[in-house]
Amino acid sequence: MRLLIVEDEKRLALSLAAGLRAEGFAVDVVHDGAEGLHRAGTGTYDLVVLDIMLPGMNGYHVCGALRAAGHDVPILMLTAKDGEYDEAEGLDTGADDYLTKPFSYVVLVARVKALLRRRGGSPSPVLRVGALRVDTAGRRVWVGEGEVALTAKEFAVLEQLATRVGEVVSKADILEHVWDFAYEGDPNIVEVYVSALRRKLGAGVITTVRGAGYRMEER
Ligand code: CA
Repeated sequence: MRLLIVEDEKRLALSLAAGLRAEGFAVDVVHDGAEGLHRAGTGTYDLVVLDIMLPGMNGYHVCGALRAAGHDVPILMLTAKDGEYDEAEGLDTGADDYLTKPFSYVVLVARVKALLRRRGGSPSPVLRVGALRVDTAGRRVWVGEGEVALTAKEFAVLEQLATRVGEVVSKADILEHVWDFAYEGDPNIVEVYVSALRRKLGAGVITTVRGAGYRMEER
């Protein structure tokens, strides 16, 4: 899952990004409304956290422009103001939810997850692949009856594969969704995580498709 934060208060933006990364999301941050509109319009994001008071272009206009262009990416608006008028205006321009500053980080994460769940359209966030159960909302995994502890990144890699059972998922795809756009390290990092997943979940769970990527199969 890849999120975009559009927030000009840099300390807030960076701490939100760090917190959401710790939850296993890939997070990109921009500090300007026009840049946010451009990025969000590329269609690579699963959710946008959008401040209202921004340089370049305010959040209402960014949101309105995205919707006018036909983008249905979930948008969570942040506002320093409160009051029904602002909320109504935010939802009017097509935002899916809003949060008034100051907000608790726990509430933000809960809202982000709720929006992603709603958007997924899946009534059950638990994916079943053979003997494996993957709870995408609770971020927990079981093999048979036994729960397996995964790190946030391991879980995120597994989620990319488990949501696309039967398909070949390339390393580049996994990198793009799990790491950040600024990641310039070795793309073979994906192999390290796949090895860890095989060690924890069983060797046969993830198949290597030579030269193409990885695949999980319904068994
Ligand atoms: Ca602001």
